[in-house]
Amino acid sequence: MAVTAAHALALSIVRRLRDAGHVAYFAGGCVRDRILGGDPKDYDVATSAQPDTVEKLFTRSVPVGKAFGVIRVLDETNSAVAVEVATFRSDGRYLDGRRPESVTYSGEVEDAKRRDFTINGLFYDPLVDKVIDHIGGADDIRARIVRAIGEPHARFSEDKLRLLRAVRFACRFNFEIEEATWKALCEMAGQITQVSYERIRDELNATFTGMARGRALRLLLESGLLDAVLPEVAALVGKPGPAGDLFGETAAMLDMLDKESVTQNLAWGALLHAACQPNEADALLRRLKQSNVLIERVTTLLRLQDTPASASQMSLAELKRYLRTDGIDEVLTLHALIQTARGGGLDGARFCRRKLTEYAATAKGDPLRPVVPIDGNDLKALGIPPGPFYKEVIEAIETEMLEDRLYTKNEAIVFAQERWKR
Ligand code: ATP
Ligand code: MG
Repeated sequence: MAVTAAHALALSIVRRLRDAGHVAYFAGGCVRDRILGGDPKDYDVATSAQPDTVEKLFTRSVPVGKAFGVIRVLDETNSAVAVEVATFRSDGRYLDGRRPESVTYSGEVEDAKRRDFTINGLFYDPLVDKVIDHIGGADDIRARIVRAIGEPHARFSEDKLRLLRAVRFACRFNFEIEEATWKALCEMAGQITQVSYERIRDELNATFTGMARGRALRLLLESGLLDAVLPEVAALVGKPGPAGDLFGETAAMLDMLDKESVTQNLAWGALLHAACQPNEADALLRRLKQSNVLIERVTTLLRLQDTPASASQMSLAELKRYLRTDGIDEVLTLHALIQTARGGGLDGARFCRRKLTEYAATAKGDPLRPVVPIDGNDLKALGIPPGPFYKEVIEAIETEMLEDRLYTKNEAIVFAQERWKR
């Protein structure tokens, strides 16, 4: 296993806590990821030490969630490396935040049991290389099962976000959801909207940029979660498209995006390509509290999803203005995805990519963004009175430059004079 900076920090934290007489383990996701052979993206430490004690033991720390017993301990030389140290606790009911309403400090068994799924409830003692399993999580990881800790209805009731988390973890690791957990999930799916859209958004964004996205969409549909959070997409079931059911097409497109190139924009573009007009996508994404940047890009994707097909018929100026659209690369990817799903041709996307490469390789200047060699002062000097004509003629000169018909300042001046005389 790779010894990352975060792992080294987590290890040193456990050592220091243990030397001071406390219980301390790696906890939760990082234990799961290490058993699965992956590199955890972050490390969490769980300990019997109280938050005040943790703060005293580590000079560089931030009380990120002190009320819940969570202290972030920073690496002494590199504050970009941090580990969250949480005091063993049992949670009260979850409010609509990320944190429970009240916590009670407790022992390690209660702390394991407050966690959502057995695969997320393990501890690991790095000093003796031993997994500490109070909830049967090690067997479930081996059997590749997502199972709620304790009675599933009760656990989903405490925090309804767990409904979505179950699907996300099942798809991320290609695990099955255990029967009773799945049954409760289906029965309670409609209650997902009781949690904030910010939390729902974060789960959906992670799910649709994660692994097995097509399967995730299907599990969301089968459980009823999709009807609750994205009814527009659920409505695609049974709707005929150019190559069969549009829901199937959407799932297939999500799967076709490879892990390296999938972005949130593309995932949402694929999800909504058949479900929404751009204005409907705008409303849906706003409801989900997505960022303005994402909303802007995704609606652009939907507006332009068919345009690469006609790019080769555009005038040179039109084509170049088109190719400088913010996010053009994702437009081409989405278009190719739709074409592939529908058995259509890829000539349009290929043509655009070839042109982009060609223009990017131009030695002198950027052919997509020529610098117009005259401005308002030059026009004034020519005796042309300021007015809307200025903007018009500058744009017309840019068009001429994009068309490769005008290059120099003199040519631009002549062009402006002739326009003005007309
Ligand atoms: P990731 O690799 O995505 O960070 P993770 O398992 O570390 O996965 P986090 O959301 O970082 O997930 O949470 C850390 C741990 O806290 C989880 O492993 C789990 O034990 C617990 N946990 C997180 N969210 C919840 C929740 N909503 N309900 C119960 N336990 C939770
Ligand atoms: Mg984590």
